[in-house]
Amino acid sequence: MTSVSATGTAAAGAPVVTRFAPSPTGYLHIGGARTALFNWLFARHHGGKYLLRIEDTDRARSTEPAIAAIFDGLSWLGLEGDEEPVFQFARSDRHAEVAQALLDSGKAYRCYLSNEELAARRQKAQEERRPFRIDSEWRDADPADAPAGTASVVRIKAPREGETVIEDLVQGRVTVRNEELDDFVILRSDGTPTYMLAVVVDDHDMGVTHVIRGDDHLNNAFRQLTILDGMGWDRPVYGHVPLIHGADGAKLSKRHGALGVDSYRDELGILPEALFNYLLRLGWGHGDDEIIAREQAVEWFDMAHVGKSPSRFDLAKLQNLNGHYLREADDARLAALAAARMPGEPDLALLARAMPVIKVRARDLDEIADGAAFLFATRPLDLTEKAQGLLTEEARQRLAGIHDRLSGESDWTLETLEASLKAMAEELGLGLGKLAQPLRAALTGQTTSPGIFDVLVLLGRDESLARIAAQAGAPAQSQV
Ligand code: GLU
Repeated sequence: MTSVSATGTAAAGAPVVTRFAPSPTGYLHIGGARTALFNWLFARHHGGKYLLRIEDTDRARSTEPAIAAIFDGLSWLGLEGDEEPVFQFARSDRHAEVAQALLDSGKAYRCYLSNEELAARRQKAQEERRPFRIDSEWRDADPADAPAGTASVVRIKAPREGETVIEDLVQGRVTVRNEELDDFVILRSDGTPTYMLAVVVDDHDMGVTHVIRGDDHLNNAFRQLTILDGMGWDRPVYGHVPLIHGADGAKLSKRHGALGVDSYRDELGILPEALFNYLLRLGWGHGDDEIIAREQAVEWFDMAHVGKSPSRFDLAKLQNLNGHYLREADDARLAALAAARMPGEPDLALLARAMPVIKVRARDLDEIADGAAFLFATRPLDLTEKAQGLLTEEARQRLAGIHDRLSGESDWTLETLEASLKAMAEELGLGLGKLAQPLRAALTGQTTSPGIFDVLVLLGRDESLARIAAQAGAPAQSQV
């Protein structure tokens, strides 16, 4: 393991440990996936560890299907944790233990202010137009004065003077005046830990050296430092990454078509390596390089080139990138993926053989499935309107001629078929297109398809001749 001495305050020389800590209240969204990716890459680049923590303390909103969707999405992207995931809720006792330690050392206190009292104070501050800050008289009270039988919460003693500075790997130096920090609750009156406490304790216990997450957590970092400092624990290095925005510049939301990672796979037919590459480039850059595969990304990734401003999600770019990866992908793998999107059980070997000519223009798996559908169509073919339009009487007569000619070909190869049809076109004094167009309509039911000789070879002799015969008209006069 190498170690990093990035700016920040993680113990110098410690091996890198990062973590992705999703709250399982919904699917794995694109922003979460990118956070996971950056943590994974940072750890891999430095030969460190990347851990997963499921922050399931919100019992009402955390669900099993969401947890399953998160693991599923991460494993699809190849971003599984290096160790068994940690479940935050299961660690409540440990969180409470740390709250107790902070109480014992005088860094936290039991506060007996009721919710009503707090609400009244908040309202008063509002009326007087001054910012509300918890200013509990229990902060410095003698615990012996505690009112018997009254519920209490545990609050951290936030510093009140001076300032707190974070040297953030993305945001640079960020300073907050300590008077802006409040004595927030770390343990509720029912003894359960708050999110703020749980995160700090878990990061510490998991040995996390670098906290890379969305910049919506930057304010939390200052509060979390209060707990860390209270325990005398090393501070991690922070990197708060700007959130992803939609094409219109507003924060990415469902309105922009922001989907779960599973929808990019299932509904949009995106390959994991394409989403990986796209998410990498969304907020991080290496010059003008667009196509960056996994190993290259590990070698190049650094926090210094994470942009400070939000990046914009662009579906067309993702689809273009996907097209690139489809062309690079193994044909048998694509055949299996496309077959799952086609009716019945298409012949995988045929699909794989056809893949090189099918995938050239496709941008997603559905386009591949659509493009390959003609291979498995049953006779009589359903012709598109355009294809029907091509099959004039004259064209049907030509098909009869083509049928005659090709019936005589025993060597059903690309070269022979090409030579044969070219010779026929020449004999008739026609461009090859005049033969290829009706032929394409008859063979595929469409007006666009892979090259016509490829189509003939893929369909094979018998099927090709049968499809041509099905559309051929009465033989032309000259042939009678
Ligand atoms: N569970 C938090 C979230 O899903 C992340 C907390 C963190 O990364 O510190 O937004």
